[in-house]
Amino acid sequence: MDFSSKLLENAVHEMAQLPGIGKRTALRLVLHLLRQPEEQTTHLAKALVDLKTEVKFCKNCHNISDFDLCEICANPNREKSLVCVVEDIRDVMAIENTSQYRGLYHVLGGKISPMDGVGPNQLNITTLIDKVKREEVTEIIFALSSTMEGDTTNFYIYKQLEDYKITTSTIARGIGVGDELEYADEVTLGRSILNRVPFENSLKS
Ligand SMILES: [Zn+2]
Repeated sequence: MDFSSKLLENAVHEMAQLPGIGKRTALRLVLHLLRQPEEQTTHLAKALVDLKTEVKFCKNCHNISDFDLCEICANPNREKSLVCVVEDIRDVMAIENTSQYRGLYHVLGGKISPMDGVGPNQLNITTLIDKVKREEVTEIIFALSSTMEGDTTNFYIYKQLEDYKITTSTIARGIGVGDELEYADEVTLGRSILNRVPFENSLKS
């Protein structure tokens, strides 16, 4: 792509770093911003910088939060002994949208994936085991997508918890194998949490 301006080229180059944005789309977005009032770009840039510099991660569940404890963990009406293990914040949002779950979450920050160089140490697993050790938890619900990486991660955590007296369950598979949680409709996802099954059962099938 030949640019008539270095400023334009830089902006397009930065925009094209985003996932799913090719050079052509980046150019379209940049030209769009150029046509808008200056405040719009200023607000966009400020929101992104503020997000990056001020965002916190909940010290209990690793959810993205404006405070040390996220709104879910700080809510006295949530059942603190029930912990739903999810891959990332999008899963928390999807499950919260169902209004069917009253426990807490634990955000792993990914799935074990040797192909991508992600091992257990890169994920928030130790803090989950610590919660179990402190006897704060009576049931862990695995709600990772049922991909090979999801299953590997579930099984790894399950083995770590073997010596502790807790219930482990997995969300019922109204959700198809390989489906990501965030794409499941609210009714299906809500039901699959309410109708969760003992984790051991998922190993036999
Ligand atoms: Zn939290």
